[in-house]
Amino acid sequence: MTSTVDTATTEAIEVLMAAGRADMIRHRNEAYPEEAVGIICADGSTYPLINQARSAHRFEVSQVFVVEAIKALNEAKRFPVAVYHSHPESSSGPSARDVSLMQAMNGALSIIVGIDGITGWAWDGELISMGWISLTVEDDEEEEE
Ligand SMILES: [Zn+2]
Repeated sequence: MTSTVDTATTEAIEVLMAAGRADMIRHRNEAYPEEAVGIICADGSTYPLINQARSAHRFEVSQVFVVEAIKALNEAKRFPVAVYHSHPESSSGPSARDVSLMQAMNGALSIIVGIDGITGWAWDGELISMGWISLTVEDDEEEEE
């Protein structure tokens, strides 16, 4: 298994994150100062979950709620792609706990909404950045100039 992420993959993930940006930021704001956690689907729509840890530094969702979410998404013909969570007061870099979780879900995309933007991450033998977008559309446009 190669750990190289091609540009097309990174770009596709950035498009996905941009589609879900407004919803993920709204959810982050609603959950503040606790971490928000939810599922992002292939169409960029989101399914918020409840952070049962009620913490500003970690999230926890019981299996029952995950199964319930997957069932609801399947019934609505929405395809879950990744779990996102927020870092209310820190960067979109993963915490040690996040890295452990990514290692356990080897290869799965994980999205973090931080104060510096939104970053996609995955573990594939090493920690891999899967793309980054800014918190605002305006800043995205500035970057392209
Ligand atoms: Zn985290």
